[in-house]
Parts: sequence; structure tokens; C-alpha cells
Amino acid sequence: MADHNENFAPNPDLGDHSKAQPPTSTNGDQTQPTGSASVSSFSRDTKREASWPSVLFYIHLNILGVYGIFVLFSQTSVITCIFTFLLTLCGILGVTAGAHRLWAHRTYEATTLLRFTLMIFQTLAGQGSIYDWVRSHRLHHAKYRTVDDPYYSDKDFLHAQVFANIRKLSPKQEKLLESIDMSDLESDRIVMFQRRFYWLLYMVLFVLLPINAPLEYWDDTVQAAIFVAFSLRYLIVLNVAWLINSAHFVWGLDKSHKQSDSNMVFLVTKSYWPQYHYLLPFDYQSGEFGNYGSGCTTAFIRICAATGQATKLQTMTTEAVKRGLTMAVDSGKPIVECLKQAGAEDMCTLNREHYLQNERLH
Ligand SMILES: [Zn+2]
Repeated sequence: MADHNENFAPNPDLGDHSKAQPPTSTNGDQTQPTGSASVSSFSRDTKREASWPSVLFYIHLNILGVYGIFVLFSQTSVITCIFTFLLTLCGILGVTAGAHRLWAHRTYEATTLLRFTLMIFQTLAGQGSIYDWVRSHRLHHAKYRTVDDPYYSDKDFLHAQVFANIRKLSPKQEKLLESIDMSDLESDRIVMFQRRFYWLLYMVLFVLLPINAPLEYWDDTVQAAIFVAFSLRYLIVLNVAWLINSAHFVWGLDKSHKQSDSNMVFLVTKSYWPQYHYLLPFDYQSGEFGNYGSGCTTAFIRICAATGQATKLQTMTTEAVKRGLTMAVDSGKPIVECLKQAGAEDMCTLNREHYLQNERLH
């Protein structure tokens, strides 16, 4: 727990970022624009142009995917439905259990076999390489709800879910991305292999396999292969993966995007889990979609742990939260620092198979 990367440590002052903040420099200093020249360079640095290839692609994908719903109910065999469901599930697990919880936040460690499997699964999501996904997500955490957050929106869920994803990064964001520490992924041969051969893997696993298999192996229609197994699946996986970065609008503490009085409410009530994730991202039980300790990704990680494929599952017990909060009040140190320290101490005493104990699951 203590060794997770500090570069993507959450901003402890979450409540103060519900409105647009001036950009900060890469070393964290505030860069206040002064005068009209500074204001224009401020907007030039942070302005995000539309990525027209992405916009056109998104429009086409929506049209084809929605038509896929019609084809799904009219001319798709049961085998193609099951096949599409399995590919969709694997793609989502590749992003949630793989790119997000394993590689971006190091919430557990995985054997070579599991990392390879998750790399294949993540390729089935069509979200770009693990390396690029993790780098953007780490920047998202480091600059959460500031204009430098790649998935930032001061408006609403739709802007965070869709528009932030079909814009180019601002020049400043491009620079910030370069400053993200990726040394842990650079030493992971499986991640770097996928990065190097991403487009080849993408074409074979993500495009050709779902289209070819229904035609080749169980004689389904071309329509089912293209509009259901490819387009509809892509649309679902894409939106679920994008939701990881915008879920806080749906299940977050301040749905109307107003500043909250305290972010500690969710620790007391054990609700608003997306906020918990931004505060303590190393907990393997943090669900991406407003849940905690449940969901298929958490179950998947526990099964992997039970079979010896996943080890060192990091979590945070209620006792550690209480102790961390008390420590913060007594010492006056930042809350996140105290929570991390209490959590690390607790992990040392926690049973190695805590993920199998019922009382540890919530
Ligand atoms: Zn995260």
C-alpha cells in the first residue's frame, strides 16, 4: 500500500475542485495569469480543439451500434449473442481489473499468466494501449477536476463522458502527460510488448476475431457479425470504459457539481465510492461504477487471488480509516497521508487471505 506511485496520488482537497481551477505548473505551483497577454497564453495552453477523426468515428459508431440493437433482436443467433457478451465482458475486465486496478493503481500484484490474460482482455476493449490508458488515467487522478484533467468538465455528465473524449489534449496536458512517472509500466515486458505491437493486436483480436468467428465457425449472418459482434460491442465497451473517468458525476458526492462542505461524509456513511477512489485509489475493492466490495471485477480479482494468480491485494479496513482520521486530527497532518499510513500499518497485520473473509469484504 505504501509503495504505490505518488505521481497519481489523489488531491486531498477534492471539494475545492468542483469548479474550474487555474492550471498548475508541473511542479504543482499555481500559475496565476496576469494581464491580457497571460490570459491569452493561459487559454492557448489549455484550449482543447475537437479531434475531428474521433468525432466522425464516434458518430458512425453510434449509428452502427444502435442499428446493432435492431439486428441483435431480429437476425442474430444465440451463439453470436453469447460470443458478443463474453468478448464484451472480457474487454471490460481488461480495463477495470487490468488497466485500472492493476496497472494504473497497483491495487494488487499479478503473475505473468494473469498479466498476459489481462493484456489480451484489455486489447479486446479497443481503448488504446495499456500504457497510454494508464498515463491518461494517472493524469486524471493527479489533476482531478482541474482544467488539466483530460476528463474534466465543469458542465455535466455528458460533457465528461463524451465531449472530453473526442477532443485533442491541450498543449499543457500533452506536456503534463510527459511528466507522469511510468517507470513501473516500462519495466513490465507484457505492457511494453502490447504497446509495441498494439495496432497488430488490435486488428487481429479486436476487429478480425469478432467479425470472422460468427461467419466462419457457426454460419451467422454478415449483419450479425458486423453490427452486433463488432459495432454494438464496441459501443458498449467504449462507453463503460469512459464511465470510469466520469462516474463521479453519476455516483459522486456533489451531483450538481457544487462544492461540498466535507468530503469525509462518504467515509462515515460508506457511500459515494467514486470519491473514495479519488482519495485512496489503491484499494482493490473500489468499484469503478459507484459500488464497493461487490461487482464482477472485484469478484474476478478475488477468484484470481484464490487461485494464486493475484497476490498482495491492498485494501482499507474501517478500523484503519478511523485510526487515520484520529491521527489526522491529533497530528494536524494531511488526511490522505494519515489514512495511507494507518492503512499500511493495518495491511501488515491483516490475514494474507483477507479477501476470502466475509467481514473484510465490506
Ligand atoms: Zn482510478
